[in-house]
Amino acid sequence: MYKVVIGLEVHCEVLTNTKNFSNAKNSYTNIPNINVMPVDLGLPGILPVVNKEACKKALKTAMALNCQTPDEIIFDRKNYYYPDLPKGYQITQVTKPFGRNGHLTFLVNGEEKTVDIHQLHLEEDTAALEHYTNYSLIDYNRSGIPLMEIVTEPCIYSADEAVAFLENLRNVFLYCEVSEAKSDKGQMRCDVNISLMKDTDTKLGTKVEMKNINAFNSVKAAIEYEIKRQSELLDKGEKIVQETRRIDEDGKTYSMREKVDAVDYKYFVEPNLAPVKITDEFKEKVRSEIPELEYSRIKRYLKLGINLEDASTIARDKYISDYFDELLNYTKNISIATNYLTIVILGSLNKLNISIKELFITPKMLGEVVNLVDKNEVSNQLAKNIIYEAMEKNIEPLEIIKSKNIKQISDEGELINIIKKIISESPDQVKEYLSGKEMVANFLVGKVMKETNKQANPATSLKLIKEELERMR
Ligand code: ADP
Ligand code: MG
Repeated sequence: MYKVVIGLEVHCEVLTNTKNFSNAKNSYTNIPNINVMPVDLGLPGILPVVNKEACKKALKTAMALNCQTPDEIIFDRKNYYYPDLPKGYQITQVTKPFGRNGHLTFLVNGEEKTVDIHQLHLEEDTAALEHYTNYSLIDYNRSGIPLMEIVTEPCIYSADEAVAFLENLRNVFLYCEVSEAKSDKGQMRCDVNISLMKDTDTKLGTKVEMKNINAFNSVKAAIEYEIKRQSELLDKGEKIVQETRRIDEDGKTYSMREKVDAVDYKYFVEPNLAPVKITDEFKEKVRSEIPELEYSRIKRYLKLGINLEDASTIARDKYISDYFDELLNYTKNISIATNYLTIVILGSLNKLNISIKELFITPKMLGEVVNLVDKNEVSNQLAKNIIYEAMEKNIEPLEIIKSKNIKQISDEGELINIIKKIISESPDQVKEYLSGKEMVANFLVGKVMKETNKQANPATSLKLIKEELERMR
């Protein structure tokens, strides 16, 4: 058995109006080469201008990831040639990036895990190449889009931990509203570095790098495949080659190029951009805009007695979690509130394919219904139907309840008359019950519900039906 060691380099496009160093639009479009300015094409004589919004969002993310942030940031030039990089260099950060020495804590299968962040920096995306049989096309729309890179320490020890880290990191981006982080659009992608070592080894093993994986399940597949491939080689006493591999659609990885030595990019400070000062006031302003994050909310929900599954479901989406927090301002019954949010509301959002921001039912409206259920004034079943009807007709639930004169009948005197009538009309069921089939009582509850337009309290009805039938023995 070998110990698996993984380090991730995650790239995420930053949500801004314009590109990192030009005023071309940063937006998705199917029309190639329309969001392009001379800077993005690397035309001679051009000068870059720093995008403040991109800097602010990179700083915000660095802070959310508990990084140390500098008093000024510096941009550097990374020199290499590739057709998707018309300038012949990429503007990135090595000297003074936005963040260093951070960490992110989250849950993996219920266990707490902390991943240390080596660094967060801001750079620019390349153009997109499209390869055809005999030729390739270049789309410069992506050229210069602000890109954050987050590099972890080699402190991730399984595929599950890697995927959980990526999911939680994406939620940091979404919670902080710094990126849409859609991996199917390539807005979030990562390089996976992985090595194996024996328990007794003191030095990390030789790493293999897999570049630009978009989907999280491909990350999982690539890691699992590499663990198998590398263990088999080590078992045979062979050496792991330091190389870059790519993952194919079959879930296997294939060698692309051996990495003999680190490429020398001849970095130097970007001479066309002055260092950017970050004042304490600006830091405080940015820090105050960071909302309470996912894991902190999960812990808060657990303290309220909510189970881990529901707590995680609610906190997975900031807007759903915000909705839930507001709901708790209107009701004290956390258990019914949780049930109505996770089952009725989330179920409806799925079915209607809308976001919670588009939902007609406000937290206040939902809280009012929850309180009626809590006080036994409306049955659970009826309450759920009312919520569905309210969504369908855009009418407030309380109004529906008023207009239909809905209330739950829990009064035993009122219920017993209905129950006696139903029992007298159901001689067959009575016989079955008395012969030992006690489940029949539930069938009779159904009849009571029907008779009362679902307003009878089902628990009270069941109790009374059983008492009545027992008396007939
Ligand atoms: P390079 O100079 O080859 O790019 P870095 O030291 O910058 O290597 O690390 C790049 C990424 O690889 C980081 O995420 C780091 O955590 C990870 N990494 C470094 N060494 C190893 C290793 N032996 N096994 C697994 N991951 C590693
Ligand atoms: Mg590196």
